Amino acid sequence: MRPLVVFLLLNETVEMLDEVLHIFYPRICAGCDALLAEGEREICRDCIVSFDRFSDAEAADRAVKNVFMHNFAAGDIPQKAVTLYRFHKNDRLRKVIHAMKYEGVYRLGSLFGTLLAEMIGGSLIAGHCDCIVPVPLHKLKVIERTYNQSEIIARSLGAALGKDVRVDLVTRTKYTESQAGLSPRERLRNVGNAFAPSGNAVPENILLVDDVLTTGSTVAAVMQSLKSAGASNISLATIALAA
Ligand SMILES: [Zn+2]
Repeated sequence: MRPLVVFLLLNETVEMLDEVLHIFYPRICAGCDALLAEGEREICRDCIVSFDRFSDAEAADRAVKNVFMHNFAAGDIPQKAVTLYRFHKNDRLRKVIHAMKYEGVYRLGSLFGTLLAEMIGGSLIAGHCDCIVPVPLHKLKVIERTYNQSEIIARSLGAALGKDVRVDLVTRTKYTESQAGLSPRERLRNVGNAFAPSGNAVPENILLVDDVLTTGSTVAAVMQSLKSAGASNISLATIALAA
């Protein structure tokens, strides 16, 4: 069994145990450290309503595409895009995303995957999707963080939409350092050769999953790699838009 499968099976067991342990060791909100009430998952209701959520899937699609249109050529724009929130520098969502990526609160990824599935619903994205592909992390980063948060989101989204998740189509071959201070096109050049197709047959319609979208350069680079291997329609799902 692959390590992630073992990890997810363990996760199921841990979640059941967690329900019991919650009585003795109460869970806290990843956004504000308040005690979670019954029925709340990882984030309290106050924090959830404080997030700047897109009103509907169309508004989210327009906002994400604007980022790509502003930064890249027409061929680098996703077919359809979905995102849940606008990400602001000092909001509670920032703390939540940080906890998900760097502090081991991987279950947040499962929660966001479920919320993304609800927003996607029966839309065009779900209809035109052969499989879901998470943006890969470099293997050294997976060792460092123990999991790829985009894969956790993708697994939860895939389970909710009934779609396969493929982590064997594209790999991250280059360990890229922080891209702060670079323009979007410089970032794309920088990460442009950081991804490579794995050599497996790539389906035509792909839903790519990333955590937070900033300039879109990482996503554009993964899209170029998947397209070079045969994908023709690539849509995008992310938790938040940082632009
Ligand atoms: Zn909270």
